[in-house]
Amino acid sequence: MNLKGQNNIRTKQTNRSQVLQALLRLGRTSRQNIAELTHLTSATITNLTAELIREELVRETGNLEENRKRAGRKFIALSLYEDAYWVVGVHISFGQLEFGLVNLGGSVKKQRKLDLPAALSEQQFADLLLTELQTFMDGIQEVDVQAIGIGCLGLINFENGVVLDAKPMNWQNIRLAELVASAFKLPVYVDNNVRCMALAEKMFGGSKLAGHFLCLFIGEGIGSGLVLNDDVYRGGLTGAGEIGHVTYVHDGFDCWCGNRGCLEQYASNAAIVRQLKAPSLDAVIQDCLKGNAEAQKAIRQAGRAVGTVLASYINMFHVDQIVVAGHLADENLPFMPAIREEVARRSFLFNREKVEIAFAAIREQIGVIGAASLALHYEVFKK
Ligand SMILES: [Zn+2]
Repeated sequence: MNLKGQNNIRTKQTNRSQVLQALLRLGRTSRQNIAELTHLTSATITNLTAELIREELVRETGNLEENRKRAGRKFIALSLYEDAYWVVGVHISFGQLEFGLVNLGGSVKKQRKLDLPAALSEQQFADLLLTELQTFMDGIQEVDVQAIGIGCLGLINFENGVVLDAKPMNWQNIRLAELVASAFKLPVYVDNNVRCMALAEKMFGGSKLAGHFLCLFIGEGIGSGLVLNDDVYRGGLTGAGEIGHVTYVHDGFDCWCGNRGCLEQYASNAAIVRQLKAPSLDAVIQDCLKGNAEAQKAIRQAGRAVGTVLASYINMFHVDQIVVAGHLADENLPFMPAIREEVARRSFLFNREKVEIAFAAIREQIGVIGAASLALHYEVFKK
């Protein structure tokens, strides 16, 4: 874990950010535990927590009994005041738009989901987004929204908030951050939706303590977000994580990306539905749960395809954990066991030191919580 503050060299702002992130990781905790995690002096912690309490981002919440070194002593507990800060998360996925009102603790207090009509031009989408977002914002009377985070499918330039290429929706060069910021006069952040999900799992989910992990999202396509050294990895201009377009079958099915045999063509929701000529993924899942052999085989085979690609990935980046999100990542389906079996069969590094392959802790709401996490991360925790 890399959460060391510095008393002299770095700015007060950095130390403040370390204290807030420590509170996110530790939950209800003491000043002593924050000092231990951040390596900041107790005087620095005292000053910073006093400031955060004055701003009402942090509250004193009774006493903590436990302390390993000084048994029996009581310490004052500190917690983030979760309702102190509110953002709106906007999740744009294939054919769907979701809005969520989310607090500092990553809880969704209000949510709206709508289907996007097929064949929307960039301009039609921008108009629809602004209208629907305005309606959602108008419905929020109880709190002040401080920022907006947007997670969108496709290649995104995080620096300027531009959707460069969302091929499945046929969109190019939408200046999303500029558009939304000028309409709502709020700070706006835009990133790839699966990178946002990785951030949500790091901040509020099951990966708070994992320094290096991959978040994989199986939806209509397959995307991933990588956290390295406790931070989202963005590679070059458009970021990284197009694991859905790793070649799985040499000379396999044509893919919209220009390659052939991409993993996405064999293991995504769309691939399974197409293969079985089923009406929807839900129908395949229901069949699978009822014991239909064909549905079970298709889901298991998709898991094996993901496991095959992940084995190579693990051999390249021996991350601590792989987190899988999406409807197929369900305890009652054979998808995850098939991934684990295939990885164990193929990756010697996995067998040398096990990588945890886990379900995402945040389920249905991971899209909007992810988008909101982006705004919370840059406006509060890492400001
Ligand atoms: Zn592809």
